[in-house]
Amino acid sequence: MDKNIFYRNIPKVDLIMEYDEIKRLSEVHTRELILNSVRKVMEDIRDLINSSNDEEEIKNKINNVVADIIIDVNKFISFNMKKVINGTGTILHTNLGRAVISKESIEKASKLMTGFSNLEYNLELGERGSRYSHFEKIITKITGAESAMAVNNNAAAVLLILSTFAKNKEVIVSRGELVEIGGSFRVPDIMAQSNGHLVEVGTTNKTHVYDYEQAINENTAALLKVHTSNYKIVGFTESVSVEELVNIAHKNNIPLIEDIGSGVLIDLSKYGLDYEPTVQESIKAGADIVCFSGDKLLGGPQAGIIVGKKQYIDKIKKHPLTRALRIDKFTAACLECVFHEYIDENKAIKNVPVLKMITKELEEIEIQALNLFNKLSESIGNLCELEIMDCESQIGGGALPLQRIKSKCISIMPKNISTSSLEKKLRMQETPIVGRIANDKFLIDLRTIFDDEIEIINEAFKEVLNS
Ligand SMILES: *Cc1c(COP(=O)(O)O)cnc(C)c1O
Repeated sequence: MDKNIFYRNIPKVDLIMEYDEIKRLSEVHTRELILNSVRKVMEDIRDLINSSNDEEEIKNKINNVVADIIIDVNKFISFNMKKVINGTGTILHTNLGRAVISKESIEKASKLMTGFSNLEYNLELGERGSRYSHFEKIITKITGAESAMAVNNNAAAVLLILSTFAKNKEVIVSRGELVEIGGSFRVPDIMAQSNGHLVEVGTTNKTHVYDYEQAINENTAALLKVHTSNYKIVGFTESVSVEELVNIAHKNNIPLIEDIGSGVLIDLSKYGLDYEPTVQESIKAGADIVCFSGDKLLGGPQAGIIVGKKQYIDKIKKHPLTRALRIDKFTAACLECVFHEYIDENKAIKNVPVLKMITKELEEIEIQALNLFNKLSESIGNLCELEIMDCESQIGGGALPLQRIKSKCISIMPKNISTSSLEKKLRMQETPIVGRIANDKFLIDLRTIFDDEIEIINEAFKEVLNS
């Protein structure tokens, strides 16, 4: 095959720019943007001629030049971050943005975003105010703590707390609590980053009161308790309770710091879930500094919330890192909104999307499943095998790792394409749908599906299976 013929057949850039379709494109987009795409497509063609011996393939590529340019331009101007439909049933899906926040929060926050606000302005006094003041009162009211603040995320909160108190000093942690959260957040590494010395006590499965007591010396800055939020040590185990740790710490005039991870404010065991320690209980038990995530079980924006005794929180607020780790106005506004929901527990369960999904009744899920099943049966029933099946949802986000919640899913097994190709095509939709594959069936768990997404799912399946 004479590749030179093909090279000669590649249309010239100037000529392409004169095609009608391309001219129409240049009514909407700049010449530079189009030229970029034209050059890219030309390069792809040259690469293909170079690497392929398939004449048909090369001819097709050359014939498709205009369409490819239009696709490339559209790809460039379309947004990369997209709303995704989460059919995995994992409520706090780290890859899919973790906690979903309510429309009400966003509407309130967006009003503050599109205009000026009193972010750091005290309206009563007419002078400079604190960005923490907007949510400090409500967080302290709900958690029972004296003082509160928030930083970028809980990893930042732990770093800031240790940097404030542990620099060149010792902090005692149980060996069973040396957590790795993922994304290289490990308790020993954060300790090193804060210039603190980690003193490990006890063993992986058992740590006793005397382990802590024996490790305390004049250079001890604090005791640290880390909630093992993403794993469980079961069997022959023992750990020291917050009350007991507070006791030991206060006898020695040092604070007890607790990284509680998820920051749940409601006793979830009332709703049939495993017990997860609440922030209020830690404060009540006397913990001096408690930190937790804003976007795990709390169901708010990404943030690291620090609550505790005023003397300690004041000291943290003055640390130079606080300025570097501070939250923005959007987060401040959303935090105020989400904590407002917790004034009334029933309101929180109803209005905080994370809690709503966790406590979603099986009957409600069944109704949704039937609704989606009926729609799909009508539109693509002849192209696949459809079924409503039992399944189990997970909390995710490193919270309640053993928890499984009974749920319902739609199972789809396509007849004309493979299940993995279906999965990929759904992922490539304008509103991508992410689900799970099990036993060669594509599964959509309805626990994490919102009512207004059912029709979008139906349309996506129609398009994918009919094309
Ligand atoms: C999740 C978690 C963190 C990290 O919180 P982010 O908000 O994700 O930064 C830290 N400690 C514990 C115990 C956690 O569970």
